[in-house]
Amino acid sequence: MSDTTPNRADPVDMDTIVSLAKRRGFVFPSSEIYGGFASTWDYGPLGVELKRNVKDAWWSAMVRDRRDIVGLDSAILMAPRVWETSGHLVNFHDPLVDCRECKQRFRADHLAEQAEEGVCPNCGATGSLTAAREFNLMFKTFVGPVEEEAATAYLRPETAQGIFINFENVLTTARRRLPFGIAQQGKSFRNEITPGNFIFRTREFEQMEMEYFVAPEEGQEWYERWIELREQWYLDLGIRPENLRRDVHPPEKLSHYSAGTTDIQYRYPWGFDELEGIAYRTDYDLKVHAEASGKKLSYFDNETNEHITPHVVEPAAGVDRSILAFLLDAYAVEPDEKGDDRVMLKLHPRLAPVKVAVLPLSRKEPVANLAIEVWDQLRPFWATQYDDTQSIGRRYRRQDEIGTPLCVTVDFESLDDHSATIRERDSQEQIRVAIPELIDAIRAKLGF
Ligand code: ATP
Repeated sequence: MSDTTPNRADPVDMDTIVSLAKRRGFVFPSSEIYGGFASTWDYGPLGVELKRNVKDAWWSAMVRDRRDIVGLDSAILMAPRVWETSGHLVNFHDPLVDCRECKQRFRADHLAEQAEEGVCPNCGATGSLTAAREFNLMFKTFVGPVEEEAATAYLRPETAQGIFINFENVLTTARRRLPFGIAQQGKSFRNEITPGNFIFRTREFEQMEMEYFVAPEEGQEWYERWIELREQWYLDLGIRPENLRRDVHPPEKLSHYSAGTTDIQYRYPWGFDELEGIAYRTDYDLKVHAEASGKKLSYFDNETNEHITPHVVEPAAGVDRSILAFLLDAYAVEPDEKGDDRVMLKLHPRLAPVKVAVLPLSRKEPVANLAIEVWDQLRPFWATQYDDTQSIGRRYRRQDEIGTPLCVTVDFESLDDHSATIRERDSQEQIRVAIPELIDAIRAKLGF
């Protein structure tokens, strides 16, 4: 690690993260044996654990730990009228620019100044860019055996609309009073013009969205509160504060439904860019769906004896983008016990795909037997790995590189003193613990 060694205050470069992700089984290029499929990615054995952990951390913070939010899992395919009503059929587009020379396509709002002067940023041709035209980002599909217009459906480009159309169902079954929220995680699809930057922008991705319904006069206050709460969530999971900032959208940049939008941005290697958006959607969605469906999507206020349409504040996060931010932020190169470089992922223990690795100092009986016994004890409680190959130093390096917070080493002495060594990832501190007390000691160190 020479020129790629990051200063901890600086972001690591993308190639380093992409190659670590592939090499260690976090994220693979999709359809690789067929030459790949542009900008699609598969999560490997460690990636799927990390992804679950990110989603669980969000679900805990947004649903389980709170009194006022319930969950939902709505369908990806919905009645096309949902998208007609929400405005997505008409408004959900990006401005597309083509280069007549090299045939590259660009998002007009992402083009740099030189392109504004008509120079293609890809091939450098002058005057080759077309005027911007609107390109709808929704994927169309056909439901039923006949490809006819009547059976056109769309893959949802956001999970939020599934929440709005279930407002009445949730309100009556969960018997909620304002303010309350409905949270959902799931896949969304957008035919992005320029996907890229690894898992930052893909055409298939996962979202974590929550619609928080409030009395209209409390909308602004909750909008501000949710910006703080969501920012704090990333900080609590270890993102360094200097790598986060807020981007408040000026009125002319706001979506058609929004009375205020603030993005939480992360400092990716290419600069600050969106991680999560918090939008004050007012009563737009409930009103338009009520009008179009002819159903009442309102709330009866017992105190005033009035029906009102609640206002909505929406924190909308991306699972994949969060994973990228957590990986980038956790990456570090620090000296090991001997002063050599060790590559680390200093992931928060909650996010780390493996919590404890069990490492026997010998592959043979009786050390290996005792180590397997220890491993058997730990597996019901945490995600674990058992590794008995190569030197102990290399095994520590491997665990450091995937972010495992604790290693438990079973050695020859363990046979006599019935103890094992717990080694901490960040401090490299080692303590000796009696095997029957391992579970308590690990729990105390991890905090869960
Ligand atoms: P962008 O401006 O980057 O296209 P957006 O403002 O359209 O994003 P939202 O509609 O606010 O994004 O979606 C909420 C969140 O979903 C985003 O903050 C991001 O984390 C995630 N997200 C949106 N589009 C993508 C995508 N194509 N790939 C991965 N994640 C995405």
